[in-house]
Amino acid sequence: MDRDLSEEDSVESLSFEAESPLAPPTELLERLPSYEWLLHGGGQQIFFPPSEALVRPPEPTSWSSFLEHRVPVVTEEVAREALLSFVNSKCCYGSAAADDLIIRELRRQTLCRYRLETFSESRISEWTFQPFTNHSVDGPQRGTSPRLWDIKVQVPPMFQEDTKKFQVPHSSLVKECHRCHGRGRYKCSGCHGSGTVRCLTCSGAKHKARQPRRCPMCSGSGRRRCSTCSGRGSKTCATCKGQRRLVHFLQLVVTWRNSLFEFVSDRQIHCPQELLGKAKGENLFRDENSAVYPIVDFPLREISLASQRGIAEHSASLASRARILQQRQTIELIPLTEVHYWYQGKTYVYYIYGTDHQVYVVDYPERYCCGCTIL
Ligand SMILES: [Zn+2]
Ligand SMILES: [Zn+2]
Ligand SMILES: [Zn+2]
Repeated sequence: MDRDLSEEDSVESLSFEAESPLAPPTELLERLPSYEWLLHGGGQQIFFPPSEALVRPPEPTSWSSFLEHRVPVVTEEVAREALLSFVNSKCCYGSAAADDLIIRELRRQTLCRYRLETFSESRISEWTFQPFTNHSVDGPQRGTSPRLWDIKVQVPPMFQEDTKKFQVPHSSLVKECHRCHGRGRYKCSGCHGSGTVRCLTCSGAKHKARQPRRCPMCSGSGRRRCSTCSGRGSKTCATCKGQRRLVHFLQLVVTWRNSLFEFVSDRQIHCPQELLGKAKGENLFRDENSAVYPIVDFPLREISLASQRGIAEHSASLASRARILQQRQTIELIPLTEVHYWYQGKTYVYYIYGTDHQVYVVDYPERYCCGCTIL
């Protein structure tokens, strides 16, 4: 047995098998100083700083260009071409029907899609720890910790989601490791400190059942070296990595997120909803600022109302937990065409949506299954 007895703590002195959770026990956290004031100041909750007062007056927008805007009309020719190229891109669709079909009706509509994106930052703090390796400790003796929102951090490019963690200055404290109680090791739970376990081959009987020969796996000893601790009887504490002490500190967690509000104007054509979210549109209006104003006088009233609703929803849902850094609202035109056609005496339907003429097929007369996933 190659048990290493040079360890300062012999296995016998490790009276427990620490299998406690990685987080410090609550009693310990209670003994750590309260950093409540980082979040609250002078009785008044200052979870995040008030955003600068908006002084930008709503800009009068001329919508005359909207009325002049034309999205190219989908003709019969275009409708057939779009279906043909869709069919050719799928292994399960034959192209004969697309070639021979008779288009009976094209129902066209141009929809308006309103989108509001809000890029926000939220901050929380949490206690964390790492093994203490005798490096200098930035504790309260070096000064008062800044408040969460006073800590300067590098903001990622706008609308790029990210999460970053920072150590709060002057918040570090060194404590004995709570998992090994400062010993750096703890008793192995696999062998309860003995370094050996019962031989599984002979079940400790020293020879195999109905065989007089000694068990070859344990050489007749009935016990084998514990594989969990390699026969040492103890294990290096995983929490402090054997360092015996931990440095606890506050960690600032900053999260940048995008929130999306989307609205598509009322449609006369009954088409699957999912097409409209991903359809490529023609940009009509784009407004980006640290905060945007609701659109008030768009010719389609439901778009103006959606803008007001979206901005109100985002500020209500983010107000108590984040700071809005940037907002972007857009209005796009989405062309949608419902194509009714005849093929071999039956009627079928497909849709062409977006400025890039994407096709959505409800049913198609010439479809074979080759085992692929039908989209
Ligand atoms: Zn062991
Ligand atoms: Zn054995
Ligand atoms: Zn430890």
